[in-house]
Amino acid sequence: MNILVYLEQNQSGLRRSSLEALTAARLLNANKVVGLLINGSAENVTSAGQHGANIVLTVTNDSLANFQNSVVANVVAQAAKHAECTNVFFSANATGKDLAPRVAVLLEAGLLADCVKLELVSGTIQAVRPVYAGKANAKVRCTTQNTVATLRPNVFTAQKVDGGIASSESYSPEIPSVRSATVSNIVRNEGSIDVAEADIVVSGGRGLRGPENFHLIEELAKSLGGAVGASRAVVDAGWRPHREQVGQTGKTVSPNMYVACAISGAVQHLAGMSSSKVIVAINKDKDAPIFKIADYGIVGDVFEVLPKLTLKISEVVGK
Ligand SMILES: Cc1cc2nc3c(=O)[nH]c(=O)nc-3n(C[C@H](O)[C@H](O)[C@H](O)COP(=O)(O)OP(=O)(O)OC[C@H]3O[C@@H](n4cnc5c(N)ncnc54)[C@H](O)[C@@H]3O)c2cc1C
Repeated sequence: MNILVYLEQNQSGLRRSSLEALTAARLLNANKVVGLLINGSAENVTSAGQHGANIVLTVTNDSLANFQNSVVANVVAQAAKHAECTNVFFSANATGKDLAPRVAVLLEAGLLADCVKLELVSGTIQAVRPVYAGKANAKVRCTTQNTVATLRPNVFTAQKVDGGIASSESYSPEIPSVRSATVSNIVRNEGSIDVAEADIVVSGGRGLRGPENFHLIEELAKSLGGAVGASRAVVDAGWRPHREQVGQTGKTVSPNMYVACAISGAVQHLAGMSSSKVIVAINKDKDAPIFKIADYGIVGDVFEVLPKLTLKISEVVGK
C-alpha cells in the first residue's frame, strides 16, 4: 500500500498538520509514503523525510503560485497515479476539505472525511470519524480501490523518524488550463496562530459582553502561547472574525488544552471542541452545560477570574 500525502507549507516550514498526516501514513506501515510538495523548499523536503516520507515529489511551476483548487486537485491526482499511490491523505483543514473531494472524484476513490483514527483491517484503511456533531463515532472504510482521507488536525501526533531521509524527485505534471484568475490575495493576521492548529485555544463567549473586553481573552491566550477562539454568538454579533469561530459551523479544534470563557456549551459549540485533550471552563453559572464536558471548571465571573489567571500564568511562564 502506497500513500501520497499532500504537503502544505507556511513561512516557518511544513504545516504541522502535514507532518501529522505523514506520521499517520507511516504508522499504517505503508510500503511507500510519498509527499507532494508544490513550489516548496529543500528544507521542507528534509522535514518531510524526518517525519516519514520516503519520497517527496517536488513540483515547481509559477502557474501554481496562486492556489486554484481545481488545478491543484488535478496535479494531486496525477501525482498519485504517477507514484502508484492508491491512497491520498490531506489534513482536514480548509485546503484539505476543498481538495479532497475533487481528488476523490478524479481518482474514482471513496472519501474518508475528518478521520480521528486510522487502522489497517485486512489490508484496507478503516477510519473512525465523529458524526452527529461529535455525539457518536462511526467506523468507516471505502469499498473502492482508491481511498482519499482527510485527517483532523491536532489528533494524530507528528513524530520524527530516527534518521528519516526522503529522496527528492522533481515531477512535472500537466498543468490544466485555469478558468479563473486570482485578482488579489489578502493575508489577514499573518503570524497569528490558526485556531485549528493551535496547541492551546482560549475562546470567549457572549458573557464577555462586548468586543472591548476580548483583550482579556487575548491576554490569557498570549500568556499561554495559544490562539484566540470564539463562540458563534460572538462572531454573529461582529465582535470577532469568523475565522476564530469554533463549532459546527466554524472550525473543529483538538488542542491539548481548550479554555472556554463565558461560553454556555451549546451542542453546536461542543461539536467543534469536544475532542480537545483537556477542557477548562470558566462560567458564572454552575449549571452551564460546558461544565459537563470540562476536565477543570471555575465557577466565577470572567472579569474577576481572567486577569488573575493571566497574571499568575505570566508569572509562571515568564511572558
Ligand atoms: C445550525 C446552528 C449552527 C451553530 N453553529 C455554532 C458554532 O459553530 N459555534 C458556536 O459556538 N455556536 C453555534 N451555534 C449557536 C449555539 O447554539 C449557541 O447559540 C452559541 O454557541 C452560544 O454562544 P455563547 O455560549 O457565547 O453564548 P450564550 O449561550 O449566551 O452563553 C453565555 C455564557 O456566558 C456565561 N456568562 C455570562 N456572563 C459571565 C461572566 N461575567 N463570567 C462568566 N460567565 C458568564 C453565561 O452563564 C452563559 O453560560 C449554532 C446554532 C445553530 C442553530
